[in-house]
Amino acid sequence: MKFSSFFIPTLKNIPAEAEIISHQLMIRAGMIKQASAGIYSWLPLGLKVLKKIEHIVRDEQNKAGAIEVLMPTIQSADLWIKSGRYEDYGKEMLRIQDRSGREMLYGPTNEELITDIFQSYITSYKDLPKNLYHIQWKFRDEVRPRFGVMRGREFLMKDNYSFDLTEEDSKISYNKMFTAYIKTFLRMGLTPISLRAETGSIGGNLSHEFQILAKTGESTLYYDKDLEKIDPETINPDKLQSYYAAVDGLHDEKNCPISKEQLKISKGIEVGHIFYFGTKYSEKLSAFVQNNKGKKTAVHMGSYGIGISRLVGAIIEAFHDDKGIKWPISVAPFHVSLINLMIDDKACAKMSNIMYEKISNSKLDVLYDDRDCSIGKKLSDNDLIGIPYQVIIGKRDLKDNIVQLKNRLNNETKKISPEEALNFLLEQTLTDF
Ligand code: ATP
Ligand code: MG
Repeated sequence: MKFSSFFIPTLKNIPAEAEIISHQLMIRAGMIKQASAGIYSWLPLGLKVLKKIEHIVRDEQNKAGAIEVLMPTIQSADLWIKSGRYEDYGKEMLRIQDRSGREMLYGPTNEELITDIFQSYITSYKDLPKNLYHIQWKFRDEVRPRFGVMRGREFLMKDNYSFDLTEEDSKISYNKMFTAYIKTFLRMGLTPISLRAETGSIGGNLSHEFQILAKTGESTLYYDKDLEKIDPETINPDKLQSYYAAVDGLHDEKNCPISKEQLKISKGIEVGHIFYFGTKYSEKLSAFVQNNKGKKTAVHMGSYGIGISRLVGAIIEAFHDDKGIKWPISVAPFHVSLINLMIDDKACAKMSNIMYEKISNSKLDVLYDDRDCSIGKKLSDNDLIGIPYQVIIGKRDLKDNIVQLKNRLNNETKKISPEEALNFLLEQTLTDF
């Protein structure tokens, strides 16, 4: 992709309306534009990252045996009245009337709709377990939408729902999702910390929150430092769930079960939440199956959410410096920035074109900065948008057959020949696209 024909409207100044760094950087890097409070348009660079995150989430869901469906954003109020949540949800729910005066709503979540789909088709224990997911926009009329896409009103969520015959089987489904979540966040280069979460009204329920570590995160986490050491190949959910971990208000220094040496305190951002809630919705919405004795029983359910659009901001909170974003390779909008500092110089243009063609023909996604603008703007824009590798082509170096290869993650720059730069880039193992 050529920068000059693409659409990345970068901004030099920090936008006044953005309080936190990820929001500032997303606006400055031309990733999003606010449409109204808590509602955003995704510009090309932002959309590319959103899609990469969505791809990793989907892939791990599929690998864990979940099945993708797509439910609508607009739902009828009927099922919500049945489940008793139409009143309970309060002002966070956006309610709409259609032209015939029917009560509709913009879905804040999908327990009701999925339970209705399930009960329409599945009537025997032989068809269990089932785990259905979708990736769809949600709307919650948050009291205070803020921090850009981190707390929006309209946001993209992956949510899935498990259906099992017994509580015991439900725990297996729960742990499968727990493991899939850890893998998902590790693939994005993040460090996930799982915490036992408050479960609400029904006793015996089980819930975990997934936070990712970021110095600028909103929550303070207190946890066993071994929770950070996770090998994606040998994830053991029972073991991870046995570690001590608590958020700010729930940590009690006096009664902490682990030693000071073992306790770590870091900042985090919530990106996922999983929940086992038994037969709460299946009973209200008639999701019964026959068990092996022919008896009708309500299915046990769990629900599992990942904030896909929130993750775009959360990843920036975890990976940035004072110049801009530093994308982990698996979610980067492009892998390589090819920066021609002297577009009017014949040798620079020739070398840039050769490299652009070679990189384009590989598995790498390259952004060729061929814009007619100052060297300063080119360099600062590229640091701002945070593509992991930069190849910088300048007139003086090129006379000695040299280009600069910069690694944006650690800002190290090497002066090497164009051939060496190409070989280095083409040898990178990029597993996630
Ligand atoms: P919070 O406590 O942050 O409001 P929640 O408990 O309401 O979160 P869930 O209903 O469990 O969130 O939703 C699952 C995931 O969806 C959350 O972990 C988060 O990543 C994401 N999410 C929830 N609300 C928002 C929002 N307003 N904007 C962006 N993402 C959100
Ligand atoms: Mg909420």
